[in-house]
Amino acid sequence: MSDAAHTHAMPESPAVQAVSVSGLAASRGLAAGAVFMYSKSSDIALPEYVLPEAGVAAELERYRAARAEARRQIEELAAKFKSNADGIATDVLTNHLLLLDDPVADSAVVRRIEKERLNAEAAIRRTTDEFRAMFAKMKDPYLRERQRDVEDIENRLIRILMDCGESAFDHVSSPVVVIADDLTPSETVTFPRDLILGFATNRGSSTSHVALLARALGIPAVVGLGDITSKTHAGDFVLVDGTSGVVTINPDAQSRAMFDRQARRERRLRAELARECASAESSIASAVRLCANTQPGVSLSNLASSGAQGIGLYRSEYLWLGKDADPGEDEQTSAYSEATRAAAQLGDGARAVFRALDLGGDKLQRGQEAREANPFLGNRSIRYLLSHRDTFRAQLRAILRASACGPSAVMYPMVATLEELREANAELERAKGELRARNTPFDKNIRRGMMVEVPSAALNADAFAKECDFFSIGTNDLVQYTMAADRANEKVSYLYQPANPAVVRLVGMTVDAARGAGIPVAVCGESASDPVMGLLWAGIGVTELSMSAGYIPFLRKILQSVSASDARELAARVRKAGPSRTAAEIYATCREFVLSKVPGLEEMRSLFTPGQAQSEKERT
Ligand code: PEP
Ligand code: MG
Repeated sequence: MSDAAHTHAMPESPAVQAVSVSGLAASRGLAAGAVFMYSKSSDIALPEYVLPEAGVAAELERYRAARAEARRQIEELAAKFKSNADGIATDVLTNHLLLLDDPVADSAVVRRIEKERLNAEAAIRRTTDEFRAMFAKMKDPYLRERQRDVEDIENRLIRILMDCGESAFDHVSSPVVVIADDLTPSETVTFPRDLILGFATNRGSSTSHVALLARALGIPAVVGLGDITSKTHAGDFVLVDGTSGVVTINPDAQSRAMFDRQARRERRLRAELARECASAESSIASAVRLCANTQPGVSLSNLASSGAQGIGLYRSEYLWLGKDADPGEDEQTSAYSEATRAAAQLGDGARAVFRALDLGGDKLQRGQEAREANPFLGNRSIRYLLSHRDTFRAQLRAILRASACGPSAVMYPMVATLEELREANAELERAKGELRARNTPFDKNIRRGMMVEVPSAALNADAFAKECDFFSIGTNDLVQYTMAADRANEKVSYLYQPANPAVVRLVGMTVDAARGAGIPVAVCGESASDPVMGLLWAGIGVTELSMSAGYIPFLRKILQSVSASDARELAARVRKAGPSRTAAEIYATCREFVLSKVPGLEEMRSLFTPGQAQSEKERT
């Protein structure tokens, strides 16, 4: 795991007043550094002015040069994606070129420069505003979605004109804390990892994707801060406490010293825990595999040192995010093979579980689809895959090809009906047939699993268990869909309760069904990494907990401290008490139990899931 404390040189005694802002803790750890204000290109404060008459010709020339440069950049991108399997990349880039060459748009910009004597940036912004409004009114969702292409072209042209470079980070050379309104997964994947010390955002919740990504990368993050963007400015220095959910702007010397001390303490603690990996046979630890959640773009090198016993969730969609085009089958095969080979090093029984593309919800590919009114309830995950069969099949072929390099499994996301599971299995068989016809090797017994993250799947788990080889419970979504509370919306984060008796009951039903059918069942949602919830799931009978690699040593330590019989008794008590208990009561009971078994744990506040620590705080 990367270091818990991310610090960077602090300026001496700032003259400005320190301000502390509380939000939702999203990724544990401490970060200190200079502020980088991130705003989307469309939010760039654009210069707008009237040109002197003599300046019009030069401005037209500037605009034309920017268009030529935009064309060059798009063509270069198109060349890069030429081998794309299903043509999405080509479509997107062709659209961009068509829009760039659109004579109506072009003459509108030229007219504004010539007649209204506007500078090129303002002429482009006004013209694209008109186009955006026009597309927004379209009934056809495909045409409506063209707004995003217009935005892309606008951003590209403006970045060129303002010499912003292709990425917002082009001019950043030392590590920074990123302050933003909100960050989408496709934005965060394009950020340069080595330059980010921490994240602090106005919006988002502890299970939104920026939080998950931050955790996977070991980068501290606080989200849901309200209006941090108006309280911080370039040149400020901030402390980000991703465990308590507090951001301090321009701290005084004393707060900085305390922060540094805490950072050193956490560093030491993590190092100690990481060393304690011995197994205790009679403990609940021996009944549970501890695996890592990972994704393309995150280094696989720390899996072994974290003690991971496999890759329990490989979020394949990160190969798609932040890109204009689908990755081809070969590109996917090489990424998956790398993960398979890494998993094979993790000891007996270790495998890499590849989750099929989980696009949709808040994980959208650029130019993917028309925006939906309720994306989390829309055409996401398995629904998207079954309506994009070529993409699905190409991915299954790539996963199968990687299975020739080591033990692997394929897992379908967000299955809600038996028909979906059957169709997905049928696609897998078709993909196998295609590889056989090509004489390409693969593991013909590759295991097929499904995510249980929709209540219908948990309620009917006994039927699903007969048609797949394992379950993996995605509590991030299961909580969202059970509580009807958007996982990314900080305004309803108080309803986001993994310990709610309804969620506990659904997990229990899933485990019972898996046990009845003799198949393993994992939890790969973030609740697995919480010492309290992780222990409860293990006591209920989950056979695998999968989480960001850095949290594995802590969970191992907790599970090793509790006997299997005690953990099962605790879980039985919680299940028996049933729905009359509140989430807070269930969490408090289990927490007390854990604290009684692991002396000193209370002090180790960074062990508790940020979201849960937060709701604890809110309750008191
Ligand atoms: C989940 O829903 O718990 C899960 C692991 O999937 P994701 O967070 O990627 O939606
Ligand atoms: Mg999910």
